[in-house]
Amino acid sequence: MSTSVYIETFGCQMNVSDSERAARGLRKAGYELVGSADGADVVLFNTCSVRERAEQRVYNRIGELRKAAPEKFPLIGVMGCVAQLEGDSIFEQSKAVSFIAGTQATDRLSTLIKRAQGGEAAVIDLGERAAGESWDISPVERHSPYVAFVPIIEGCNKFCSFCIVPYSRGRENSRTAREIIDEVQCLKEAGYKEVHLIGQNVNSYRPKSSDGLEGFVGATPFARLLRAVAATGIARLKFTTSFPRDFHPDIVSAIEEFPNLCDWIHLPVQSGSDRILQAMRRGHDSANYLRRIDRIKSSSRRLALTSDVIVGFPGETRDDFEATLKLIEQCRYDSLYIFKYSKRSGTPAAKLPDTLSSEEKTERFLELEELQRSLQRQVYADYVGRTVSVLVERPSTRSAADMTGHSTCNKVVNFEGESNLQGSVVDVLIIEPKSNSLYGRVC
Ligand code: SAM
Repeated sequence: MSTSVYIETFGCQMNVSDSERAARGLRKAGYELVGSADGADVVLFNTCSVRERAEQRVYNRIGELRKAAPEKFPLIGVMGCVAQLEGDSIFEQSKAVSFIAGTQATDRLSTLIKRAQGGEAAVIDLGERAAGESWDISPVERHSPYVAFVPIIEGCNKFCSFCIVPYSRGRENSRTAREIIDEVQCLKEAGYKEVHLIGQNVNSYRPKSSDGLEGFVGATPFARLLRAVAATGIARLKFTTSFPRDFHPDIVSAIEEFPNLCDWIHLPVQSGSDRILQAMRRGHDSANYLRRIDRIKSSSRRLALTSDVIVGFPGETRDDFEATLKLIEQCRYDSLYIFKYSKRSGTPAAKLPDTLSSEEKTERFLELEELQRSLQRQVYADYVGRTVSVLVERPSTRSAADMTGHSTCNKVVNFEGESNLQGSVVDVLIIEPKSNSLYGRVC
């Protein structure tokens, strides 16, 4: 009988994609991938370390598993960012963990499981990815039959002072455009409607060769890649996350040229205060960021804009925070992810005194959330009477009569419809704005 493996994923789209890749390798090696930890022989946690709370979740989950099945406890493995950063100290934190796989060991998981099953104690692999390892993922492992994540670049060279990613995921490494285009072509032939090009900083894409980009113009390799991938004719193409300093206006020009390039840009600003942006080592100030926003807002297509903000960075004064509030009012984001600063050991900011108490961070978080909520209400109300194109993903969990999906502008859209619409793209006339979604009817 084959060994059953359950993979539980925390964190960003890169982690979802890594789990898909891990599943592909394990299935190829003869393992059975299952959808629940109950009764699984092996439970593999794919972890996130961006904030302390995310990191703690894996230990909480191991505790829950112990309680749920004390007599048949599975072999536990930890992979991903926490594994890479914490290494063998994880074995001390939790005696239940048998093996650890770093962010670049995804393709060697079956060997690690075999060693742990063979009785070897504290199995660990934090090594680099071997040259030539395939990025291919078969459709069975994809998180959705309609939407696929395609990594184009991994790692990060930016070293923002708060961020752990360069330490957990290593330096930037771009796939060739040829590989990416071939993968998107296969996805299109397999019936996928939407592809997300993903990476910590997609627009920092810099492949070692131009293979696949011949004949495509663009001010940066990423702008050329967008045109080349859009030319495959895949129905909908999204990309995330963009890094402000590398956000060239030609990206907007590419979106204007190709209707299948979706009308949504995620551009994390982190703060509206130049002093804090400098301390964060972002490489952009607010004026520079706003120039990029101007180009997005003046596009001939109406583009949805989303962002990330950190409140309570060390030394953030009331004036700094007010500069953030001001910038948020100026940008009128379609949505905003707000994070309370979380000290990440090993980053430059961790050496700065954490000047705000947890209560003060919460107060700023709530104040910013309230402002965004009121701005977002106006942005969403503006969609009423407009028709958006929606990829129907599943029945709504709120109402049995409704289906739900995402628009090209990345809004959740609900509407009355039958489940046979699942997987199709429909035009929906928006009739009612909700706080984080839109409601409409198929037209
Ligand atoms: N690479 C992107 C960038 O910096 O533009 C985003 C990557 S990060 C995985 C996602 C978000 O997590 C960041 O944009 C930031 O807002 C938040 N984040 C990262 N480190 C954090 C920290 N130490 N404390 C709180 N939030 C953090």
